[in-house]
Amino acid sequence: MCLARGWGSLIVSKMPGPCNPGNTRYEGRERVLDLKFETGADHNDIREAVGKLCAQFPGEYWRDLDKRDAYPSEFVTAMTEGGFLSVLVPEAYGGSGMGLEAAVAILEAVHAAGSNGAACHAQMYTMGTVLRHGSEAQKQKWLPQIASGALRLQAFGVTEPTAGTDTLAIKTTATRQGDTYVVNGQKVWTSRAQHSDLMLLLARTTPRDQVEKRTDGLSVFVVDMRDASPEQLRIQPIDAMLNHATTEIFIDNLTIPAENLIGIEGKGLRYILDGMNAERILIAAECVGDAHWFVGKSRDYANERVVFGRPIGQNQGVQFPIARNYMELEAARMMVYAAARAFDAGQDVGAMANMAKLFASEASWKAADTCLQTHGGFGFASEYDVERKFRETRLYQVAPISTNLILSYLSEHVLKLPRSF
Ligand SMILES: Cc1cc2nc3c(=O)[nH]c(=O)nc-3n(C[C@H](O)[C@H](O)[C@H](O)COP(=O)(O)OP(=O)(O)OC[C@H]3O[C@@H](n4cnc5c(N)ncnc54)[C@H](O)[C@@H]3O)c2cc1C
Repeated sequence: MCLARGWGSLIVSKMPGPCNPGNTRYEGRERVLDLKFETGADHNDIREAVGKLCAQFPGEYWRDLDKRDAYPSEFVTAMTEGGFLSVLVPEAYGGSGMGLEAAVAILEAVHAAGSNGAACHAQMYTMGTVLRHGSEAQKQKWLPQIASGALRLQAFGVTEPTAGTDTLAIKTTATRQGDTYVVNGQKVWTSRAQHSDLMLLLARTTPRDQVEKRTDGLSVFVVDMRDASPEQLRIQPIDAMLNHATTEIFIDNLTIPAENLIGIEGKGLRYILDGMNAERILIAAECVGDAHWFVGKSRDYANERVVFGRPIGQNQGVQFPIARNYMELEAARMMVYAAARAFDAGQDVGAMANMAKLFASEASWKAADTCLQTHGGFGFASEYDVERKFRETRLYQVAPISTNLILSYLSEHVLKLPRSF
C-alpha cells in the first residue's frame, strides 16, 4: 500500500526563521529529532517525511497560535496535502488504507517535532464510526471528501456537563419526526466545532427507563453543521489552559435528516466504544512523541547550560530523571506499537489500548516535569516551548478518558475485581 498523495508535494511554509534570533543557546536546536526511533522500524519513512513537514512549522508557529488561541489551519492543510490524514480511509474511498500503525507513526512524529496533532488525529479517526457502521451510501457521501480534506469531520460531541464520564447519563435527545430527528440538549468540551464541517453526535433516542439493556437507547448521527442556524446550534468557545479550540454547544430544535443516523437506532454507544480503542492508541502515540520531545529538549539543555563552571547535565541529580524518562518513553513506545499492531491484526485490544494510553500519558507528563525542572527559570519562558508543551501534554491524563476510568476498566474487565460503578 502507498499513500494516496506523494510526500514530496508538501507545501512550503512561509514561517520566518530562525525561531529565537536573540537566543544563541538554542539557535538551530528547535527540532529535537535526533534520538533514534528504536521500535516500529517499519514506518521510519513515514516518520522522516512527517518530521520534514513539521520542520516547516517551528516552535514560533505554535507559540503564535497558542497566544491567539488560533486553529493550525496551515499545518492541517499541509498534513492533508501530504496525504497523512487519510491513511485510515480505505483506498476504495480515496484514502491510503494503511492501518493504525501508520497513523501511530505519523502522530508520534508530529509530537516528537514539538507540533500538536489534535486536529490531525480528529480528522484521521473520527470517520471510523462511519466507516465501520455507516451504510454504503453514507460512506460514498462522506469518506472521499473527508479523505481529500474537502470536508472536515473533526468534532465529536459526546461529553455533557451534567453526565461527565457517565456517558449513559447524557441528556441530549434526538426525537424522530418523519424524515428527520429533532435534537435538543447541550454538549461540553466539543473540540474544533468551529473549525469542522461535520460533527459526530451522540444523543439519546429512547428514554433511559424504557430500554431493555442499559447500554441501549443512544444513537450516533453525522451532523452537517453548515446546515444549522446559529439558533439551532450555538457554539461557544471555552477559555482553557491550552489551545485546543474546545467549545460548548447549545442545541435547540436542531433538525437532522434521518438518513444521517449511523447504523441502528439505539445502538450508538456500542459504535462509539468501538472507536475508542483506536483513539486511545493514537493519543498514546502523541504522548510518546511528546515524551520524545521533552527528553531530547532536557538532554540538549543539560548538555549546554553551564552553572558552577560545568554543564548541569554533569550532575547526576540532573541526569537521572532524564535517563528514567527515556526508559519510560521506550517502554511506552513498545506498548503503543504492540497495541497498534494487534489492532491492525483484528485482535481485541481493549486492555492493551487502555494500558498504552495510561502508561504513555504518565511517561509524557513525567518527562514534561523533568524538562521544566531541567530548564530552571527558562522553562517558564514561552520562547523555549517547554511550558506550552507541558500544558498540552497534561491533557492526556484527563481526556479522552481519565486515568481512574482506565484503572477501573482494568480492575473490572482484566483482573475480574468487583464492579465499582
Ligand atoms: C481540552 C479538552 C478537550 C476535550 N475534547 C472533547 C471532545 O472533543 N469531545 C468530547 O466528547 N469530549 C471532550 N473532552 C471531554 C473529556 O473526554 C472529559 O473531560 C473526560 O472524559 C473526563 O470527563 P469529565 O471532565 O466530565 O470528568 P468527570 O466525569 O466529572 O470526572 C472528574 C474526575 O473524577 C474521576 N471519576 C469520576 N467517576 C469516577 C469513578 N467512578 N471512579 C473513580 N474516579 C472517578 C475522573 O477520573 C476525573 O478525574 C475534552 C476535554 C478537555 C479538557
